[in-house]
Amino acid sequence: MTKVFNFCAGPAMLPIPVMAKAQQEMVNWQNTGCSVMELSHRSNEFVAVAKQAEADLRELMAIPDNYKVLFCHGGGRGQFSAVPLNLLAQGKSADYIVSGSWSKAAASEAKNFGDVNVIDVVTNTEQGKGVQPSSQWRLTKDAAYIHYCPNETVDGIEIFEVPETKGVPLVADMSSMILSQEIDVSKFGVIYAGAQKNIGPSGLAIVIVRDDLLNQAISTTPSIMNYTLIANNGSMYNTPPTYAWYLAGLVFEWLKELGGVKKIAQVNQEKSVLLYKAIDQSDFYTNNIAEQNRSLMNVPFWLVNEELNSEFLAQAEAAGLTALKGHRSVGGMRASIYNAMPLAGVQALVDFMKKFAQEVN
Ligand SMILES: *Cc1c(COP(=O)(O)O)cnc(C)c1O
Repeated sequence: MTKVFNFCAGPAMLPIPVMAKAQQEMVNWQNTGCSVMELSHRSNEFVAVAKQAEADLRELMAIPDNYKVLFCHGGGRGQFSAVPLNLLAQGKSADYIVSGSWSKAAASEAKNFGDVNVIDVVTNTEQGKGVQPSSQWRLTKDAAYIHYCPNETVDGIEIFEVPETKGVPLVADMSSMILSQEIDVSKFGVIYAGAQKNIGPSGLAIVIVRDDLLNQAISTTPSIMNYTLIANNGSMYNTPPTYAWYLAGLVFEWLKELGGVKKIAQVNQEKSVLLYKAIDQSDFYTNNIAEQNRSLMNVPFWLVNEELNSEFLAQAEAAGLTALKGHRSVGGMRASIYNAMPLAGVQALVDFMKKFAQEVN
């Protein structure tokens, strides 16, 4: 088997044992004679898969009983619409914290549905681009909710503190950091994540919503985006993305066997320290994010001599290190090092970076 280390930001690499199991079960799932893809979502067999996936996610994230877990269509951006449709009641406004391109996009989508107060929290400090501490955010007192993005996938900016909102429901787009570190779910009103970064294949979004936030959707909300309707139907109001749900379940099982979120968080810490150190200790590569906001999952970096970009990418590719090209809006390189990326992958990248710098210098 030839295998590369895939640093794609999303859809991202999946754990090899997960894909091996999916492959083994593909044609004849648990002796049903069918693929799990071919089973009715209402069959006992699929319902068991679906329930187990939810139970495992609840265990991994220690989700309290007063939260519903929804398996939805439409990815992360689907939730950019679903959140205001479900939570932004008439006559209210919502605060949108902007710390990078995804939170900006979420704010601009929400404007289609109601009053939005955009709060830009990016600052330039001596150590680089960072985010103001949440105590300095100019929040609106009676906002319907506060939306933010803990990890900006494109910009490589992470907010590690959970903002204090004085009782206003906190909504977080955790698409690129869910399950990467322990979080206290009880501090959030809604958590959502597109699956294709840290959970499974694309096409699925996970929504974790506190019970008291249900039953407020505006009347024109499409049924398949209505949290209450989805919750009341066990995420099977319409046919859910069954195969993605099944694969997400395999990823949860893999993570549990590995020792859970606490354990993977240590590995993630180790991986990111290794990579940032390699960048900081060279005068060949740079990263412009202030240390306290450096993402553990998405590490952008630039070659000081940008003329070498395409040579770097070509040689990396030849060395089995793929998808390192930075997002078109920021340029340079980006290494996405989600849960499925082993430490050995980051080590291989760091070794390659050192060798490349030496050889072209
Ligand atoms: C990838 C991503 C999205 C968009 O997800 P889609 O499934 O493509 O809609 C939204 N927010 C964040 C933080 C992301 O990383």
